[in-house]
Amino acid sequence: MPAERPCSQPTHPRVAALERLGDEIAELSAHLDAATARLLDLIREFDARGGWNTGFRSCAHWLAWRVGLDLGAARERVRVARALGTLPRLAEALARGEISYSKARALTRVASPETESRLLAVGRAGTVCHVEQIVRGWRRVDRLAEARETAQRHRNRGLTLHYDDDGMLILHGRLTPEVGALLRQALAAARETLHRRASSHETAMPPTEPSGATSSQAQQQADALALVAEAALQQGFDSETVGERYQVVVHLESSGHAVLDDGPHVSAETSERLTCDATRTWMRHGHDGLPVEVGARTRTIPPALRRALERRDERCRFPGCEVRRGQGHHIQHWAHGGPTILSNLVLLCRRHHRAVHEEGYQVTREADGALQFKGPDGAAIPASPPTALVHEDPVAALRTCNEQAGLRITARTALPYWLGEHLDVGWAISALHPLANPIR
Ligand SMILES: [Zn+2]
Ligand SMILES: [Zn+2]
Repeated sequence: MPAERPCSQPTHPRVAALERLGDEIAELSAHLDAATARLLDLIREFDARGGWNTGFRSCAHWLAWRVGLDLGAARERVRVARALGTLPRLAEALARGEISYSKARALTRVASPETESRLLAVGRAGTVCHVEQIVRGWRRVDRLAEARETAQRHRNRGLTLHYDDDGMLILHGRLTPEVGALLRQALAAARETLHRRASSHETAMPPTEPSGATSSQAQQQADALALVAEAALQQGFDSETVGERYQVVVHLESSGHAVLDDGPHVSAETSERLTCDATRTWMRHGHDGLPVEVGARTRTIPPALRRALERRDERCRFPGCEVRRGQGHHIQHWAHGGPTILSNLVLLCRRHHRAVHEEGYQVTREADGALQFKGPDGAAIPASPPTALVHEDPVAALRTCNEQAGLRITARTALPYWLGEHLDVGWAISALHPLANPIR
């Protein structure tokens, strides 16, 4: 333990002035952390109420656009905001300026409602460096425990089949959660198919049960398993042809409707999106239903033009979007006479390509070449919104605001209790983590 600093000697005025400066830094930092807690509360509410869902991909994308945070920092804010919603003690400590945002950020990576008290004690006592070391150790224990559990489950998997005296096959098994989910999905799909078949044949066919009774849940599951096995054997397990099967062909009917290859009708808007950068095949059908025109990739943006488009736009041009890979969107669709030329094209990511075709968002190019995006309500979405008005003396405003909230923040509010002793991370983790092996 380091010796206490002697207080009896008179302090040099220069040293005293620097100490005051240091105190001011510490005090203002605690005020900012308290204000950050309020900011995170607002972000959590905005996120939960879907306030960002106005063309933005996520709350983090909205934050990056609206307040100019880099996307990584914005994502972290949203993560911490959500986590603090379930960790009231950590949230309160941050709101009182007692732990810094950096500490709260680290602690929310591992804290649960059961462990937050213990972790908060670490946050109060240690420096941010200690906190990060403890969190790293904690995650190691979490990962080990999780790996042990997964390995255990994997070892315990099994399926046995044997015949009963009456000739029925008895299944007995334990499946890992992911395989279990797969099986349940397959059974549900098979049950649905059987149900559909049954209701379409209801009048034409005699009931499946000789007595006329409807089959029980368990009986339906058994029928579904039979269908799953049948389908698997029929189609085989070779997935080489899967790509072929999922290729999309858009059929444009004479009525103006569009139909996808596998049946479902899609709206005119969706069909325009699917054919906007037509890497898909489309067929126009006449009144007799026969194809009168096949547009195989004819409207695809040629490679040289696509390169030019990617070089010019670099990323999706929707305000606030950072996605680098995109689709070439015809500002005026080619079906309405829009040419496949650079000035009529804009790079949009999948999400925003859908937004402009199917969700009522609009993009136009102004006479000066600038892009103008508008929401479904017709309101312009600026590339970067104006910054909020800031109080003339933001620091005084912040202090007043915190004081009005009942906070008494001083230069010592966020001071760790640490007195300089060595931190034994291994010992600390084994004493704190509920799954670590206790020291004997
Ligand atoms: Zn488009
Ligand atoms: Zn985008």
